[in-house]
Amino acid sequence: GKLWAGHPASGAELAASGRPDPARIRTRFPPEPNGYLHIGHAKSICLNFGLARDYGGVCHLRFDDTNPEKESQEYVDAIVDLVKWLGFDWQANGTDHCFFASDYFGFMYECAEALVMAGHAYVDEQSPDEMRATRGTLTEPGRDSPWRARAPEESLARLREMREGKHPNGSMALRARIDMASPNINLRDPVLYRIRHASHHRTGDAWPIYPMYTYAHPIEDALEGITHSICTLEFEDQRPFYDWLLARLAELGKLRDPLPHQYEFARLNLSYIVTSKRKLLQLVRDGHVEGWDDPRMPTLAGLRRRGYTPASIRALCDLTGVSKANSRLDYTLLEQALRDDLDPKAPRAVAVLDPVKLVITNYPEGQEETCTAPLNPHAPDAGVREFAFSRELWIERDDFREEPPKKYFRLFPGNLVRLKYAYVVRCTGVVKDAEGNIVEVQAEYLPETRSGTPGADSVKVKGNITWVSAAHAVPAEVRLYDRLFSDPHPDAGDKDFIAALNPDSKQVVQGWLEPGVQAAPGATWQFERLGYFTADRELSTPEKPVINRSVTLRDSWGR
Ligand code: ATP
Ligand code: MG
Ligand code: MG
Repeated sequence: GKLWAGHPASGAELAASGRPDPARIRTRFPPEPNGYLHIGHAKSICLNFGLARDYGGVCHLRFDDTNPEKESQEYVDAIVDLVKWLGFDWQANGTDHCFFASDYFGFMYECAEALVMAGHAYVDEQSPDEMRATRGTLTEPGRDSPWRARAPEESLARLREMREGKHPNGSMALRARIDMASPNINLRDPVLYRIRHASHHRTGDAWPIYPMYTYAHPIEDALEGITHSICTLEFEDQRPFYDWLLARLAELGKLRDPLPHQYEFARLNLSYIVTSKRKLLQLVRDGHVEGWDDPRMPTLAGLRRRGYTPASIRALCDLTGVSKANSRLDYTLLEQALRDDLDPKAPRAVAVLDPVKLVITNYPEGQEETCTAPLNPHAPDAGVREFAFSRELWIERDDFREEPPKKYFRLFPGNLVRLKYAYVVRCTGVVKDAEGNIVEVQAEYLPETRSGTPGADSVKVKGNITWVSAAHAVPAEVRLYDRLFSDPHPDAGDKDFIAALNPDSKQVVQGWLEPGVQAAPGATWQFERLGYFTADRELSTPEKPVINRSVTLRDSWGR
């Protein structure tokens, strides 16, 4: 990728050419392509791209691909897809602002040699264990490596051998020479380069050494002219090193003022989910979910499949603001954001998910008539839907009780209810099988009460139930998803998060949909009385609908 229109290609040229348009805000979203994006990343995406948009700046999509063993093109492609899906892009002034840290490996290495020659870095031949052991603790200073005082020329020779692939993994490393007694452990001669004989998904086998994230990131920001390098709070202790490195490279003429600054904000945490990549991976690997895009996963791919809209996720991120205080937001905020987004625009339809037959015994066999209902009551201009009424209907099993509890206003023997958009009916009885299971509910309709006619209100009823005509309804597999965890803090402390899984997070039923519903992949509806549903983008076809419950109409976890 090109850094900006007319920018030069090599690291040295790049640094000498100055910065693009320094007056403007320039941010970046810097994922490592080692996993799938989740709801926490959405916060960082909305923040970085949102700042650039609101202040007339540019936000870069930058892949921080400095860890070859864990990264892959598959992850790069998935990240590109989902950042676009969230509604952001990195085109500005006719330029594509998508970059890869690996494109700067050459320049980063030049900087390393310059730091060595200036006495700011040295090659340490201690083992990784020895380095760890001499690093000290929060209360104890570290100890100098025996290699710390070696001559720059000697370090340079070793560094070049490292770069040529002459030494095995872990045999030596390049370290900054700062202060082994610093109260900030991050300043105790941090490692800048380590040896990794590993193929990289973009640079192949060109490099047997790779820069550490903490070394690479400030250089990436500076090269791209980033003004606000925004990261999560746990990097606060890294800021002194960030500034130290940029100041040294500026002194050495490698980088120029104005240099970027790091700003920290609190991570987005939601109750009832986990976002650690390790834990998400474990859920996938051990088969607790069906993949990274399982509709119960807090990944953006999973949320998209479940039926979450980009607008609802952006709304959640905006709602939470930018803060330095760590907190955990209630999951209901995410669900409410989806309802708020879909309510004004989702078409309505009827679905019956736990069906029992209702037979209208005084309605002629073979007869049918058409009923109408608004496509969306909030949008009268959207028009109406039409569907058949006939003698045999499907209704929800729960809408009939032989022995009604108090304040039950739906069907029970002798009671009157309205079949929504059709007639008032009086329940007359039930038919049971040999085991006593209800196989059919029976009722008689009151012909003068048809909805939309003057007689509609002639009989007052307290119950209003949904139905579909059995001969016309569309069969569908409906997946009733619920929260993946039943514990609001599944990963608090050293809890076993697997034990906190909700055993009822997925229930599959065979339901009946209003005739005329077109279950094209990704189509969304409000099924009246039930919630918002989306046709599965991977599995659904109009002939064989597979439908995901995105969210219920109301919060049923009521606390
Ligand atoms: P890990 O530490 O497990 O590798 P990561 O979440 O840090 O995962 P990155 O790909 O490095 O993964 O993250 C990209 C960007 O998203 C970083 O700038 C990071 O700070 C930000 N980010 C990650 N998780 C959250 C979160 N929960 N809230 C806000 N920002 C986040
Ligand atoms: Mg990471
Ligand atoms: Mg990270």
